[in-house]
Amino acid sequence: MNIKQNIFLSEYTTLRIGGRVRYFIECITDTDIVDAVTYADNHNLPILPLGGGSNMVIADHAHNMVCIHMVNTGLDVVYEDESSIHISVGAGYLWDDFVEYTVLHGYSGIEALSAIPGTCGATPVQNVGAYGQEVSETIVSVRVYNTASNIFQGFSNTDCQFGYRDSVFKHSSRGTYIIESVTFKLDKKPPSIPQYPRVSDELQLMQEHYPYESQLMHIRRAIQKIRSDKLPDPHHVPNVGSFFKNVYVNPEKFFELQKQFSAIPFFIDGDMYKIPTGWLIESVGLKGYSRDGVGVYDKNALVLINQSSVYSHDILSLAEEIHREVGRKFGLAIEIEPEIVP
Ligand SMILES: Cc1cc2nc3c(=O)[nH]c(=O)nc-3n(C[C@H](O)[C@H](O)[C@H](O)COP(=O)(O)OP(=O)(O)OC[C@H]3O[C@@H](n4cnc5c(N)ncnc54)[C@H](O)[C@@H]3O)c2cc1C
Repeated sequence: MNIKQNIFLSEYTTLRIGGRVRYFIECITDTDIVDAVTYADNHNLPILPLGGGSNMVIADHAHNMVCIHMVNTGLDVVYEDESSIHISVGAGYLWDDFVEYTVLHGYSGIEALSAIPGTCGATPVQNVGAYGQEVSETIVSVRVYNTASNIFQGFSNTDCQFGYRDSVFKHSSRGTYIIESVTFKLDKKPPSIPQYPRVSDELQLMQEHYPYESQLMHIRRAIQKIRSDKLPDPHHVPNVGSFFKNVYVNPEKFFELQKQFSAIPFFIDGDMYKIPTGWLIESVGLKGYSRDGVGVYDKNALVLINQSSVYSHDILSLAEEIHREVGRKFGLAIEIEPEIVP
């Protein structure tokens, strides 16, 4: 087991904020995981599982913890028939590389989730989603090491209790489960086209530019283009993607809001109304606002960016200000999406 000490987590997060962690262990095999957990137990230290750090706000002080960084990148076909294929992928495999692999092989189901940073192992945690797809629609099972009972166990799709940017893994105390691999079921049938106006436009352009490529690749390229236009590249502008979840309200609350704010955008999702939080933030005049080296991205108000800060407090107090202003104007309590490690 290769144990590193006093590693700056700011080097491992896309927000570029995060203090030193006492122990940092990279895991590839089952034995590595068991050894790392035993090490944490023996030192009576909490565990911090870390993937690509693209959905975490880690406090800038020192952390007396064992950080378990999954870097296993195995990929195995575990089942295949005429219409589908089940692929088990190591937690450390980069998500977008996996999406590309499936698109190149003609397997549909996750192509709309192109260009999302991070690792495969983290995708079940917040049920990663975009452009009408969520990983919960394709996940068959998740293999985890349960650090409370010290056994490897499988979670079925139902066991994962997926919801909007939510799963059982978000609710269990940090470090209870180390996700080792995830099995996805992908289709061999042609993909469904994401029903978003901008996607249709880009798709048409991609079909013209790349006439010999597959429909799946056209969708991937269209999504990549749209995302690069509206999301900052974390390599250049540190961020964690959407900082807040969209808001779900019941019809009664929605119509009450609509009376006051006739332009309020919405999407109907089952029997709930989904209100884009980016619009709420823009409406309180905070799009493009910045202070203390952090700010609200000027092309997309849902994204907070780190311009020059090294303090988690700066980003969190900006988030608090946004929360307060949106609450004051709309009476809605917006929720933070990334995991906060205090
Ligand atoms: C530019 C940008 C765009 C984004 N767009 C989207 C989007 O469209 N949709 C979306 O849903 N998300 C989006 N995100 C958020 C993020 O990319 C996803 O949530 C991603 O799945 C996080 O992966 P990660 O490996 O970086 O996880 P991390 O940030 O390292 O971890 C996230 C959480 O998962 C836990 N975790 C990580 N790995 C494991 C493991 N092996 N076992 C147990 N727990 C683990 C961590 O403890 C933490 O709680 C975006 C982020 C950025 C920066």
